[in-house]
Amino acid sequence: MATKKEKKEELKLEDERKNGWTLATDKEKKAIFDFADKYMDFLDAAKTEREAVKTTVKMLEKAGFVDVNTKKTLAAGDKVYFVNKAKSLYAAIIGTESLENGINLCGAHIDSPRLDLKPNPLYEDGEIALFKTHYYGGIRKYQWTTIPLALHGVVSLANGKTVDVCVGEDDKDPIFVISDLLPHLSAQQNKKPLNEAIAGEDLNVIVGSIPVPNEKDDKGEEKPAASAIKKNILSILNKKYGISERDFVSAELEVVPAFKARNIGFDEGLIGAYGHDDRVCAFPELMALLDIKKPKKTAVCLLSDKEEVGSQGNTGMKSMNFELFLGQLLEKLGYNSPYSLQRLLSNSRCLSADVTAAYDPTYAYVMEKQNAAYLAGGIAFCKYTGSRGKSGASDANAEFIGEVRGIMEANNVSYQFCEMGKVDEGGGGTIAYILADKGMEVLDCGVPVISMHAPYEQISKYDLYHSYLAYRAFLK
Ligand code: MN
Ligand code: MN
Repeated sequence: MATKKEKKEELKLEDERKNGWTLATDKEKKAIFDFADKYMDFLDAAKTEREAVKTTVKMLEKAGFVDVNTKKTLAAGDKVYFVNKAKSLYAAIIGTESLENGINLCGAHIDSPRLDLKPNPLYEDGEIALFKTHYYGGIRKYQWTTIPLALHGVVSLANGKTVDVCVGEDDKDPIFVISDLLPHLSAQQNKKPLNEAIAGEDLNVIVGSIPVPNEKDDKGEEKPAASAIKKNILSILNKKYGISERDFVSAELEVVPAFKARNIGFDEGLIGAYGHDDRVCAFPELMALLDIKKPKKTAVCLLSDKEEVGSQGNTGMKSMNFELFLGQLLEKLGYNSPYSLQRLLSNSRCLSADVTAAYDPTYAYVMEKQNAAYLAGGIAFCKYTGSRGKSGASDANAEFIGEVRGIMEANNVSYQFCEMGKVDEGGGGTIAYILADKGMEVLDCGVPVISMHAPYEQISKYDLYHSYLAYRAFLK
């Protein structure tokens, strides 16, 4: 027989949506806004995966973490990190319990949709110098024209030196731009469907317009130099970075929006920025790890690269370098069974932290209202992702979801359960299935985003903060 209180629980309707702000005390509201300020600084400092790794290492070292390669042995309470080829990172606090009993893992990705320069990018046409690009990740190409753009990345020289490049972030820097047609001459373009109006080969970035001075020929007569504007750009790049045209082939130069993160709305409840996907999960999971002292289970955060293009490669989630890191932890703690690593993986629990689509009233027709994630509804859990009959999904086990729900409720974390859009409207994936393939219990979760993958995405500060509370409760 149910008690009176249990009876009341059974009858409670679940269709009353709560806006988290109405639950927050003044003290919590202040904490939410302070946390958001720190996050916005992180966003501005870390627009690429390489910058995110560098910024994260600084944060970790300040909190007492050391490179795992500098430690011979490990003990409970030790804090270590592993940088994987400058583009992904794993960090751990060793727990008091056996490592073979598994870890508590939060995993996010730090690459974002952008435009990469082609290997031979620079050309001149019609008195303009431009860079040719190849877009990275799922973008809506028309959104990238006529907005301020910055150039971030590295150029590796044949002599083994690597030069850092970052232009367009300082207010004194120039920025770059991709042109679009004027309405007066866009009759043809206007007839094309949205996904064809701007083609991949149209995403050419304007980088210059002033030629080198005229040259003198044998007779002393002045004439314009060939490719004079391109030459001028190369000369500027050579003076500033010591690079020549050939060096572009061994570069990773990323064109990203030059916007800074800003508050949105009169009430400043939202944040607009480039690259919320997935730094809005990476940052709170890191901040959560920094709050953990000496956990029972080893607490691990991972920041992965290449999620936006399928997680392949040695810096993507499919990289075996994550197992190398875990193997190092096992070795330095004295575990040497051939099954130690598999036991660790199989006994582990993971929150795969990635953004989901937030309900947008302007585009309500792609949403199924009862299972949509709403702004200020708290961290959004997705039992499964995928598309067309859950294809490609990692589908979390009910028992694990129950366990996670229990943790959220015991720690007053606002959470919602959702699915991304209507059935057969589209879909997406995360790194969750890759970790689940290794044997872990994995549940997808993250912050709901409006305009996901656009050059300027929007999230709620409330959801950002409650995802931090969620990761902290899960890791401790
Ligand atoms: Mn993502
Ligand atoms: Mn994405």
